[in-house]
Amino acid sequence: MAYDEHNIFARILRGEIPNNTVYEDEHVLAFHDINPQAPVHVLVIPKGPYVTMADLGATGSAVEQAAFLSAIAKVVELTNVEETGYRLICNNGRDGIQEVPHVHVHVLGGRSLGRMLSKPRE
Ligand code: AMP
Repeated sequence: MAYDEHNIFARILRGEIPNNTVYEDEHVLAFHDINPQAPVHVLVIPKGPYVTMADLGATGSAVEQAAFLSAIAKVVELTNVEETGYRLICNNGRDGIQEVPHVHVHVLGGRSLGRMLSKPRE
């Protein structure tokens, strides 16, 4: 899928929209979700133009891929959810109900997160 340079995370990466940064390095930015679904709700995004996790996995460099995984570990540490537990969610494409077409992992925690999947709406 072609990358849309106007998506909101691309604009955050260009500094056009502010964000509440939790962690940043050369390849990755992590920031608080604007509409948190749990006490801890952080989004981790690569700085490269990848739409889905499959894009990042297939066309990202090994350095970018490793940096992304390391950043998730950093966020888990910085938000103190390692001991109590957390959930990683990555919505991809139409059926995954991905709203922002720039790959991101949600790091959620700080309370019990319930069952893994809700039933789809009819
Ligand atoms: P998804 O449905 O997986 O694409 O999730 C997109 C997420 O981005 C949602 O949880 C939104 O609340 C979040 N979001 C949208 N705009 C912003 C923003 N400007 N800053 C932080 N989070 C945002």
